[in-house]
Formats: sequence, structure tokens, C-alpha cells
Amino acid sequence: MRSIGTVTIKPTKGCNADCSYCCAPPDRAPKWTIDDFKSVFDALEPRLIPAATLIFRLGEPMLL
Ligand code: SF4
Repeated sequence: MRSIGTVTIKPTKGCNADCSYCCAPPDRAPKWTIDDFKSVFDALEPRLIPAATLIFRLGEPMLL
């Protein structure tokens, strides 16, 4: 059933800043592989409505 209209993606685990106020601070979890991303998006896609919005926010300007 397609019912998800908005997905907020926070690519912050690899952010190279260390802000004390961060709501999603980097941790020691291993980075996702391309296959990890593919698995998540393959599972998500059938649940998205046709005009779904994917929003990237937080640490992306700081990523190297
Ligand atoms: S730049 Fe953003 S994502 Fe990175 S540590 Fe600071 S608040 Fe968190």
C-alpha cells in the first residue's frame, strides 16, 4: 500500500562537525554500503505515493 508522502533523510552519521546541539550526532556505527542504501530504498519505494518527497537535511553541507 502506497501511503508515505514524505521521507526525511538525515545523512549525519558521517558529518565531520561535532555540534553539541546536534539532534542526530555521529556515532560509531559502521557506514552504510551502497547495497545497504539499495536495500532500504527498494523496500521503501513500493510504499511511496507517486509524488513523494525525499528531503535531505542536517549535515550534508559538511560532508567531505
Ligand atoms: S553540522 Fe549538523 S549534522 Fe553535523 S554535527 Fe552539526 S548539527 Fe549535527
